[in-house]
Amino acid sequence: MRQKIGILGATGMVGQRFIQLLEHHPYFEVAWLAASDKSSGKKYGDAVKWKLDTALPEKIANMTISPAKPEGAPKVIFAALDTDIARELEPLFADAGCAVISNSSAFRMHEDVPLVIPEVNADHLPILEEQASRKKNGGYIVTNPNCSAIGLVMVLKPLVDRFGIDSIFVSTMQAISGAGYPGVPSMDILGNVVPFIKNEEEKMQAETLRLLGSRDGKIVRPLDARMTAHCNRVPVEDGHTESVSIKLTRPATREQILEAWAEFKPLAGRDLPMAPAQPIEFLSQDDRPQPRVDKNRGRGMAASVGRLRPCTLLDWKFTVLSHNTIRGAAGAAILNAELLVSLGKLEPAAVTV
Ligand code: NAP
Repeated sequence: MRQKIGILGATGMVGQRFIQLLEHHPYFEVAWLAASDKSSGKKYGDAVKWKLDTALPEKIANMTISPAKPEGAPKVIFAALDTDIARELEPLFADAGCAVISNSSAFRMHEDVPLVIPEVNADHLPILEEQASRKKNGGYIVTNPNCSAIGLVMVLKPLVDRFGIDSIFVSTMQAISGAGYPGVPSMDILGNVVPFIKNEEEKMQAETLRLLGSRDGKIVRPLDARMTAHCNRVPVEDGHTESVSIKLTRPATREQILEAWAEFKPLAGRDLPMAPAQPIEFLSQDDRPQPRVDKNRGRGMAASVGRLRPCTLLDWKFTVLSHNTIRGAAGAAILNAELLVSLGKLEPAAVTV
């Protein structure tokens, strides 16, 4: 029998992706939807402005949106709330004994909250055992990273493991769906580039180093590397593209880097439904990856990388692309939940990896 789950923030861009990706999911069944007071009490189909290119499932359209309170909610909650609301509501659900699989940045950098990409740092999960709600009644919060950090971190992870990384320079071209709905006004973004996304550069830097860091008992020590990020909004619907330069700790040839990416399959054998068979897809064409044609590689869960070449300032440079609302949000959270299921940890119990 599939596990009943709830979605907090079900009407937003990420909430809609959850509904789309969970429609035929083998482990989870959407049983509860919540959004703001303006949507609560309405049929989902009446409250949502459905923006995805697959039909809104009829069963979901007919569900009534519940108030965003833990009473009556399932014990597994996928959360897609704005940060300020998440800061207030997610702990209420964890305190009520729910596993909260969160997309927001509210708790990503908290010492006892795992910030996880299953292929990269599943071994950080046990720090959730330190959360007060976990000790009290089994509830906890697990987070997935910012949509601009996730593709970058996937591509860097095998290089950190094999060669070490000393410095990271990244400049992003981020899609408008990353700003939620209705997001950036059309007058600001059509035919334009906006070289500012509030708090994004700080989040990208801190989260990247934490994700690539190592667990030391009850805490995570961030990777000891220098990093700078430039974040830009561009008139692309979905898919964040990033120009990256890195300095390695130990020298590597082009062949060794390509081999590290090709061989990176840390979830092979776990058989998680959302996991891409090839997490990093290298594209050899001169002008790839591109968001319009490459964002859905690995059903939107792969990080694409191309244009690997020597960098005259650091060692190597390349281009990364990942889908911001699938790999960068709802798909990442579902993969985290699948990993917790495979570890037997969506029910109250000690998490060990
Ligand atoms: P969004 O489109 O603005 O959706 C926000 C959702 O929160 C809506 O369902 C909204 O419901 C609900 N909400 C607002 N106020 C609420 C309240 N007081 N109580 C309960 N629900 C409330 O935002 P989004 O793009 O889906 O992003 C959601 C979260 O995911 C954010 O923290 C964002 O930073 C993060 N994230 C987004 C992306 C992306 O690519 N979009 C990627 C990674 C992470 P109503 O419709 O009723 O207002």
